[in-house]
Amino acid sequence: MQNMVILGATGSIGASTLSVVTQNPDKYAVYALVANASVDKMLGLCETHQPVFAHMVDQQAALKLKRALPSSCKTIVTSTPEELTALVTHSDVDTVMAAIVGAAGLVPTFAAVKAGKRVLLANKEALVMSGELFMQTAKASGATILPVDSEHNAIFQCMPQAVQNNLGFCDMAAEGISHILLTGSGGPFLTTDLSILPSVTPDQACKHPNWSMGRKISVDSASMMNKGLEYIEARWLFNTMPEQLKVVIHPQSVIHSMVQYKDGSVLAQMGNPDMRTPIAHCMSYPQRILAGVEPLDFFKVGELSFLEPDFDRFPCLKLAIDACQQGQEATTVLNAANEIAVDAFLQGIIKFTDIAVVNEQCLVSFNPSALKTIEDIIALDSEARRLALSKIKALV
Ligand code: NAD
Ligand code: MG
Repeated sequence: MQNMVILGATGSIGASTLSVVTQNPDKYAVYALVANASVDKMLGLCETHQPVFAHMVDQQAALKLKRALPSSCKTIVTSTPEELTALVTHSDVDTVMAAIVGAAGLVPTFAAVKAGKRVLLANKEALVMSGELFMQTAKASGATILPVDSEHNAIFQCMPQAVQNNLGFCDMAAEGISHILLTGSGGPFLTTDLSILPSVTPDQACKHPNWSMGRKISVDSASMMNKGLEYIEARWLFNTMPEQLKVVIHPQSVIHSMVQYKDGSVLAQMGNPDMRTPIAHCMSYPQRILAGVEPLDFFKVGELSFLEPDFDRFPCLKLAIDACQQGQEATTVLNAANEIAVDAFLQGIIKFTDIAVVNEQCLVSFNPSALKTIEDIIALDSEARRLALSKIKALV
């Protein structure tokens, strides 16, 4: 029996995780559910899953939840940052699903890594911000990191055991691997006329052709910043050199990524686009469990196609690849700027095409400083957010 904490329980990944838990009640128990402010969703989850703890980051939400819980539900409600750290690091906890969206996920995810937990990593932003430190800390604490992001999970599944057992420090070339092919659908604007992009709405941007996800990652998919963040995520997970990592557009999302070996073999992981597959894989690794996912029917799949990414259409992807080569300071700045820009776009303050403008302006104006601790990273993140807000002010 694995005792789980689910960070981001009320979100899209949280829901898929709880669906896998429900299908395997003999293997997983919910120790704690963590979310920001959605009281009604959390109330329903507490009634269904009866966790020992429910943590709401928003204090008013925590109070409301406490009042709303029926007396039959013995769940304890917590709300302070110290209580959150205590939850994820508690000795009763085996596994932490890290599925808070954005930089907000860094601190609790990092605490779980430091405590040597089995960490199922969906929160790619944590790795984009702290990659080097994150993997070093996992090595020192003995934490197991398993990639939930569907591409990284696919790559992981196509890797030899020596790589799987040594994430962050593996030597792909020594294992006969020439490169990783990181696939992405290209999102809803893959063929949209470029002149229309400045006027697309948040709802259009969030309408992903294949995946159903939270709004932030949906906008990132439309700009392909998501693929850029995933490029950085792959760099840290698989310890890649720039020539070992290529992005390929594959609009059908049937192949979730590939690994090419020096003998010419290419291994691909395929399936229906349903996050319960990578989540179940991480939860049960190295075994397999039921995920509730429809089996892939090759007679219905039809044609699979592949394209090279166009950086004129997707400038955010290029910014992320360049930032990755610059280092952790640049990727932290880019991640923070992007979160602020996406939020401004979702609120109707800036245009879709301004997201790349704000990101680039922030990358150009930041002063690099060595990041040694998680506190340094958080300070740079805050500074970059302020910078992004000032760039947005100047734009509108
Ligand atoms: P979502 O918006 O559906 O859910 C976000 C969750 O984070 C919610 O539970 C929310 O309460 C919580 N949250 C937000 N701000 C918080 C804060 N300040 N403190 C604590 N909790 C907070 O997002 P999602 O689509 O489930 O994505 C979650 C993470 O997983 C993201 O990092 C995303 O990039 C990654 N991911 C998602 C998918 C997907 O298919 N949805 C796929 C791959 C990776
Ligand atoms: Mg992904």
